[in-house]
Amino acid sequence: MRRIIGAAALAALIGACYALGVAQDAGRAEPRWWKGNTHTHTLWSDGNGAPELVADWYKSRGYEFLVLSDHNTLSVGERWFPIAEDDAQEGDRRLTRARVAELVERFGADAVELRDEPEPAMRLATLDEVRARFEEPGRFLMIQGEEITGPVHVNGINLSERIAPEFDGSIAATTQEYLDRVKADGEAAGRPTAAHLNHPNYAWAVEPTDLLQLEGSFAFEVYNGHPSVNNAGNAEHASTEQMWDLALTLRLGALGRETVFGVATDDSHHYFREDPRAATPGRGWIMVRATELTADTITAAIANGDFYSTTGVELEDVSVEDDVLALHIRTREGEEVTTEFLGTLSGSDGVDGVGDVLFTTSANPARYTFRGDELYVRARVTSSLPLAVPDADGSPQRAWTQPVVP
Ligand SMILES: [Zn+2]
Ligand SMILES: [Zn+2]
Repeated sequence: MRRIIGAAALAALIGACYALGVAQDAGRAEPRWWKGNTHTHTLWSDGNGAPELVADWYKSRGYEFLVLSDHNTLSVGERWFPIAEDDAQEGDRRLTRARVAELVERFGADAVELRDEPEPAMRLATLDEVRARFEEPGRFLMIQGEEITGPVHVNGINLSERIAPEFDGSIAATTQEYLDRVKADGEAAGRPTAAHLNHPNYAWAVEPTDLLQLEGSFAFEVYNGHPSVNNAGNAEHASTEQMWDLALTLRLGALGRETVFGVATDDSHHYFREDPRAATPGRGWIMVRATELTADTITAAIANGDFYSTTGVELEDVSVEDDVLALHIRTREGEEVTTEFLGTLSGSDGVDGVGDVLFTTSANPARYTFRGDELYVRARVTSSLPLAVPDADGSPQRAWTQPVVP
């Protein structure tokens, strides 16, 4: 038999690989949590803040990554936004002379490009320009995204190209098409992408059964900070959490499909008043576990479900070891927390026992020992504190971990 490589050369090669491996291990950072919002609007679509104002809002409040997700557009190319007089009617005054003056004062005259013909207008900063101003390695990152809109809304994260909306016959088929296109965008570009189905109860557009039909694992918004999205459901409609539990029960049980992740987002549109009835920033976000702050690393972790969702509750650690799911909660002065472990036991018919509270504790760390017959278990932590930016439902601060399949 012909020898491909001599013994001495092989030993040297193994030695080199080993040395390389050791060196890489030594330089590999420990994973940590990164705070970010994946659902944000600006003047590029129907938000009322200029993109630099929005990036500044998040960065200055300790967020580490941000996805500008305007409806059906990326923040690229030359776009001029008309400037209204300060006393213009409400709907027309997203960009007024006073707001332009504020941008000039905050970011400098060089950063604000204006023209008078054919009408007074300001050129919108592109994502590249916003990145150049705000990104800092290991501190703040912008990830390119889009809210593909119509009739369902799906956010694509770390996109390379704009994805055009197109109704594909049904809500489920359209959602699947958008999820597939986001995935295809990543495959074509050779980089990870992630997607989430947004505010399923907005206009009651998405039925719980729509979530059953989608292929592969996917994420949806269990919490969206916009005041019109009906997170809590009503007498005729399931809450987003009930939808989540039903989807998990039937997908992981009878249907043999993949899991569903839950994200919390702002869906922020309004940056000039704090009002529960406005879509203001600061209500819902995710904490992503990753070794470094890059678009590819953060996006891959989101796609893998390596994150928790929160409206204020902070977790130091979420771990599954042996048969225990454990949450270490970082409580603040005077704060009390209650952790509920929700899940469905494998005998459920999809009607009874769906998303039951299997165990409740106020201990910290909160621990759940698996019985062995759960289809999944997820944790929800509820704080005694209200949201820092109150929402339309008067929600308490919460955190949601991703479902664990034992
Ligand atoms: Zn939307
Ligand atoms: Zn939105």
